[in-house]
Amino acid sequence: MSHDKVILVTGGSGLVGKAIEWVIENDKGRFGKMEDEKWIFLTSKDGDLRSAEATRAIFDKYKPTHVIHLAALVGGLFKNMKYKLDFLRDNLLINDNVLHTSHEHKVKKVVSCLSTCIFPDKTTYPIDETMIHNGPPHDSNFGYAYAKRLIDTQNKAYHDQFGDKFTSVIPTNVFGPHDNYDLQDSHVIPGLIHKCYLAKKNGTPFVVAGSGKPLRQFIYSRDLAKLFIWVLREYDEVDPIILSVGEKDEVSIKDVADAIVNAIDFKGGYSFDTTKADGQYKKTASNEKLLKYLPDFQFTLFETAVKESVEWFTQNYDNARTGKH
Ligand code: NAP
Ligand code: GDP
Repeated sequence: MSHDKVILVTGGSGLVGKAIEWVIENDKGRFGKMEDEKWIFLTSKDGDLRSAEATRAIFDKYKPTHVIHLAALVGGLFKNMKYKLDFLRDNLLINDNVLHTSHEHKVKKVVSCLSTCIFPDKTTYPIDETMIHNGPPHDSNFGYAYAKRLIDTQNKAYHDQFGDKFTSVIPTNVFGPHDNYDLQDSHVIPGLIHKCYLAKKNGTPFVVAGSGKPLRQFIYSRDLAKLFIWVLREYDEVDPIILSVGEKDEVSIKDVADAIVNAIDFKGGYSFDTTKADGQYKKTASNEKLLKYLPDFQFTLFETAVKESVEWFTQNYDNARTGKH
């Protein structure tokens, strides 16, 4: 069967890639698979996207008409602080290879993924899409941030010189099934789910890094997946769009710990290790642009999404990414 659209998803085995695959296969409404679409989800086993040759071989093989570009070196605050050069260099190479090979293959549309942690550290709130390049990012993740910012610069350059339709989205913190649940290097929600799970199972102390005061907007990976699919099919701008819950849905790290304790039904207490970094205090982002396009989009309740993530982690503990493999 021939398909009009061959959609290649780089990073298809990660948190966001798996969520897009889930929505494509399971959504019965507007976000599910369309007849004229063929979806291909890549993992790093298909080729190392830091290599131009490997990237070209993948594009020669699948001949995509559309690309969702998720592949990246990704990690929480503590991993970002340890490997600043790796975050800069790996991501620069991956992004340059994917965008340039997409250009050479005349791909009709590329949607790449930025993040709200790439915005200037010193800024006014709420942050919006126009502010990406307004000042240096937080020092804890400047490698990742500069590599990601350049995607936006590249998108504009490909558009202005060649008319390419390369765009990007800016999610806030993401979590959900298939996350990286490593104890040291993961993001806060999967890290704390794993720690609380072990505290309940083994009676070990449940310790939350930092003061618990920083504020974050979290988006459930399956909500983000729906929005990615909408952007691929309908969003027509080169300029990025923030994909986030509203400002009023921002929660503290303490709120996160409490939601996890609830979902796991953990009866012991927990403490804060204030010798550990807090990272950026907040990066409150506006989802006004998104709501102008999709005023009726329904976000999953934070507590429900945490519960679903905990259930997934508990049921998949042996195979989840926990650093034990
Ligand atoms: P993830 O779970 O760590 O997945 C990363 C994906 O990239 C995996 O499929 C991995 O393949 C692939 N990959 C990594 N290095 C590669 C390489 N050199 N060559 C080929 N593939 C490679 O990450 P995620 O959380 O889904 O993140 C997806 C995107 O969302 C990223 O661009 C990230 O920057 C962005 N984002 C994430 C968050 C968040 O909170 N997680 C927030 C904002 C933005 P393997 O599975 O084979 O290793
Ligand atoms: P960020 O939003 O990019 O800073 O990414 P994270 O998901 O790593 O969230 C970091 C915030 O959560 C900081 O305030 C940390 O101090 C706090 N935190 C508490 N416990 C943990 C943990 O186990 N892992 C991580 N990554 N952060 C934690």
